[in-house]
Amino acid sequence: MKTNASTDIIIIGAGIAGLAAGCFAQMNGYKTRIFEMHTLPGGLCTAWKRQGFTFDGCIHYLFGSGQGQPFSRLWQELGVLPKQQFVNHDEFMRIREPGGKTLVVYSDPDRLEQHLIELSPLDRQSIGDFCAGIRAFTRFDLSLLQQKPKTLMTLRDWKRLSWKLMPFICPLARWGNISAREFANRFKDPFLRRAIPQMFAWSDIPVMVGMSLLAYMHTQNAGFPIGGSLKFAEAIAQRYLELGGEIHYGLQVERVSIENRRAIGVRLYNNEEYRANRVISACDGHSTLFSSIDRQYVTRQMQRYYDGRLPIHSQFQVSLGINRDLSGEPHWVTYLLDKPVTIADEARFEIGIKHYCFDPSLAPPGKSVMIVMLKTTYDYWQRIYGRSIYDAEQIQESNILIDYLENFYPGLKADIEFVDVATPLSYERYTGNWQGSTCGWLLTKKTLPLMIQGLPKTLPKLRNFYTIGQWVEPGGSVPVVAMSGRNIIQQICHEDRRVFGVNVIIDR
Ligand SMILES: Cc1cc2nc3c(=O)[nH]c(=O)nc-3n(C[C@H](O)[C@H](O)[C@H](O)COP(=O)(O)OP(=O)(O)OC[C@H]3O[C@@H](n4cnc5c(N)ncnc54)[C@H](O)[C@@H]3O)c2cc1C
Repeated sequence: MKTNASTDIIIIGAGIAGLAAGCFAQMNGYKTRIFEMHTLPGGLCTAWKRQGFTFDGCIHYLFGSGQGQPFSRLWQELGVLPKQQFVNHDEFMRIREPGGKTLVVYSDPDRLEQHLIELSPLDRQSIGDFCAGIRAFTRFDLSLLQQKPKTLMTLRDWKRLSWKLMPFICPLARWGNISAREFANRFKDPFLRRAIPQMFAWSDIPVMVGMSLLAYMHTQNAGFPIGGSLKFAEAIAQRYLELGGEIHYGLQVERVSIENRRAIGVRLYNNEEYRANRVISACDGHSTLFSSIDRQYVTRQMQRYYDGRLPIHSQFQVSLGINRDLSGEPHWVTYLLDKPVTIADEARFEIGIKHYCFDPSLAPPGKSVMIVMLKTTYDYWQRIYGRSIYDAEQIQESNILIDYLENFYPGLKADIEFVDVATPLSYERYTGNWQGSTCGWLLTKKTLPLMIQGLPKTLPKLRNFYTIGQWVEPGGSVPVVAMSGRNIIQQICHEDRRVFGVNVIIDR
């Protein structure tokens, strides 16, 4: 076994959490190296190019995209802003029933209120409450919940946070405890009862989270990064390299090396060993806890999170390169179906379709990228994996979807130039995420309190070892995992009695 020179901090994974931790560590004088098993940075925050089309696999909206708004300072520190440009939509998506009746989810609460009342005057009361909630959340700074590691918060910090949260306690309590699906039951109009649960892409989302999304879209703080998710991640990787960090691509960590209950480095699958004073795992939570270290170090509390009680979101995505300009069509439509269609062993009552013509850099001129996203179960794909039917199944399911698209976009089938399919196993293979989860634990009423608290980032019986990223920040998301990386370095600086500092690039 070859042992390499020691460094201050080793980071496992060059996803957004790992890259952010690396940047803030370098800014604070720590020498770091990141091991990334893939050949690219970004992890789940990625895109892939096929025959001139760029298929985006991640960001629909990025909190912090608006200068001077919540989370934007973070992107400035990480060298993304002000250079990166964003597309801001004035509607999040549309939901259309077979008869053509359509709910347009405008981000402007006034416009949304008027439109909803036109659709169902009888539901005026619920509509008014909902839109008032969105207006309230335009003033809510979600980044407050992540601004300092909870372990370092003093009584004064908690008081200050409570004071800032005070005006939002009522809307938070009221809308944090009800899902979009439950909220829909308050409506009298049958179309809205069906459409409301689809408004934010998953029906168990706490309404408060959906409201915050629309609120931030309205204040132009939830844009799509032009060039796509991979380009966005590459900008942070570039910042990390400029700060003097090292990324070792194509090297997978097998074990965290431990001596006397202290992490002392990592061993790679190629049998090389690297030493460090500290190790930060910024990759999949399950493999970190159950294969990179011995079970004896994992608390019962941490083990319990993985016993199947918490929700996970796995996705099946069909991406299409199309020889047709779809820019005249609404960019995201969820079609409600009269009769369900069975795809990946589940009856589907709706199909969500999105095109990316709002960013012309993602397809050749006159052509379009379109994606169809479906929630799916990991177990279904895992059962058939390794057998010839796995490939056949991907083709069959995508063909069913393509046939369906013909109903909504007549003649489209003949214009399709490229089809790409990603199952939960693709996400698992490329990023190591347990069950191909797209965000760690899915944000629901049950996991919302965990998101606010965060899960423990250290293990009591193992020193110099830290975990960050979407598996310890329930709900995940690009800004929250970047804050996770920032916070851990703040904690490490505190342990070393260093003053945590950041440097911001003013002009590049
Ligand atoms: C389809 C989809 C849509 C999304 N939409 C949005 C959105 O609109 N807005 C938003 O904010 N967020 C969105 N997210 C969520 C967001 O992308 C994730 O929560 C976030 O990127 C997770 O980052 P991470 O660094 O914690 O983990 P990851 O991205 O999983 O990074 C972990 C990295 O570690 C590497 N790795 C794993 N194991 C090892 C090992 N043993 N050795 C070395 N390297 C290893 C992996 O290859 C990977 O690069 C979306 C995600 C998906 C998939």
